[in-house]
Amino acid sequence: MSKLILVFLGPPGVGKGTQAAKLADDLKLPHISTGAIFRDHLKRETELGKKAKSYMDAGNLVPDELTVSMVMDRLGQPDCDAGYILDGFPRNLKQGEELDKALQARGESITAALNFDAPRSVLVDRIAGRAEKEGRKDDTPETVKNRLEVYDAETGPLTPWADGKRILHSFDAQGTVDEIYARVKVVVEGLKAGD
Ligand code: AMP
Repeated sequence: MSKLILVFLGPPGVGKGTQAAKLADDLKLPHISTGAIFRDHLKRETELGKKAKSYMDAGNLVPDELTVSMVMDRLGQPDCDAGYILDGFPRNLKQGEELDKALQARGESITAALNFDAPRSVLVDRIAGRAEKEGRKDDTPETVKNRLEVYDAETGPLTPWADGKRILHSFDAQGTVDEIYARVKVVVEGLKAGD
């Protein structure tokens, strides 16, 4: 089958990272989480990490110039040849357009955008649970509030953007991890079959 390029969309706390990791494992494709890459840079105190830190700590988006070049570097690695799962990128329309442009130059396009959603109260509860387990610095109540606002203002518009490209698949992200994953698998199997 042709290269599977999947984009996972959804607000913080919706569980898309968990679903993306499961699917990546299943399909043997790289799971590219921009949040995880940034957190690794922060930990290693790289130049990029130092530049990204204040944005991340406040729950704001890291500027596009830094983010897009980091992602493009990653997509050029040999393990991305058969496809990949992007989790947390694109995060605004500009990043979406940059991704489209880069893919177009290679004769490629996004196969599908998987969009996850759940009521705000569920998101806030899930993030609170994760904060206890993982101790992420950006999981504090004030930062979470800002991240949800940033999502609404910047990332939300990617849903109609993907719909306009006829690549959008939306999922109710309530339920157990396995229940949601079963729904994801149905869609992904359909994508593979329709190849
Ligand atoms: P996440 O783990 O996806 O919630 O990302 C954690 C933080 O990393 C975000 O709040 C942003 O500060 C930063 N980040 C992750 N992905 C992006 C992106 N595509 N563009 C800008 N900033 C990002």
